[in-house]
Amino acid sequence: MARAMHAAMSRAWLIGAGPGDVELMTLKATRALAQADVVLVDDLVNPDVLQFARADAQVLYVGKRGGHPSTPQASIVAQMLEHVRAGRSVARLKGGDPFVFGRGGEEQEALHAAGIEVEVINGITAGIAAPAAIGIPVTHRDHAQGVVFVTGHGAGSGEPDWAALVATRMTLVIYMGMRRLNDITGALLAAGMSADTPCAAIESATRPEQRHALARLGEFADTVSRAGLGSPAIVVIGGVASLALARDAVNAGVVGAVDANGAENATNPAETANALDASNAVNTSEAANPADAQ
Ligand code: SAH
Repeated sequence: MARAMHAAMSRAWLIGAGPGDVELMTLKATRALAQADVVLVDDLVNPDVLQFARADAQVLYVGKRGGHPSTPQASIVAQMLEHVRAGRSVARLKGGDPFVFGRGGEEQEALHAAGIEVEVINGITAGIAAPAAIGIPVTHRDHAQGVVFVTGHGAGSGEPDWAALVATRMTLVIYMGMRRLNDITGALLAAGMSADTPCAAIESATRPEQRHALARLGEFADTVSRAGLGSPAIVVIGGVASLALARDAVNAGVVGAVDANGAENATNPAETANALDASNAVNTSEAANPADAQ
């Protein structure tokens, strides 16, 4: 009874803040955020989105990024319950979409179990936003019949069945895969995926500090590590990544798999401005310059 009353007095939202760029947040998300008394924020959320929160809202940072100290999931749920039961509206802000690798499902279950309704507001997930940010359409019909969103985080029994995924021939979009990239690419090669398969890694997509690397599967893990890319990043594996290669060759004015004359554009300012793209575009050229491959 008491629970039902609290639920009626206040509201709880699970809100997707999108991949980073504040303008990629939905109107619905900004409107809900503007009503909240309390906002619990994950560390993948761009703090700039808090401009949509009330000036007097209580903001709690409860990041839980892999490898860093973070607020345990149970404590996050406990805090949300405490505020809702005290009659406060609670917005739980998560990066991307709350239901795509965001533990939003677990939080919804816990709140429901406590008798509290929660409204879910979608966000643009990094798995489509990051590829799009460098021109990759994840389901381009010339390249794939579909896309698989998969976590690269698991090892041992949590390991995805990479061989089964290779057999689907679909675009693979890997979240949380950076730390195990070597193992993952090794598993894909072992399962028979071609070493020539185009790959991309996009770090901090849609934010000013966005960077990316492109290479064929055979050299991809090395290329990413040489480029010094880290989390958060999305990895795209499949023919669709070749569309980023082509675009890069145009934008950076360097040779990719596309244009053997690109090397002559070495003085192009765009290339100098983005050495990462330049070196990776060279690395992807089909053995046009084998010395660059290592
Ligand atoms: N719910 C989130 C995903 C959370 S899992 C979403 O829908 O996007 C965390 C992983 O998301 C990171 O390890 C990374 O793989 C990816 N990620 C989130 N934001 C990102 C960004 N701006 N750029 C690249 N990858 C991102």
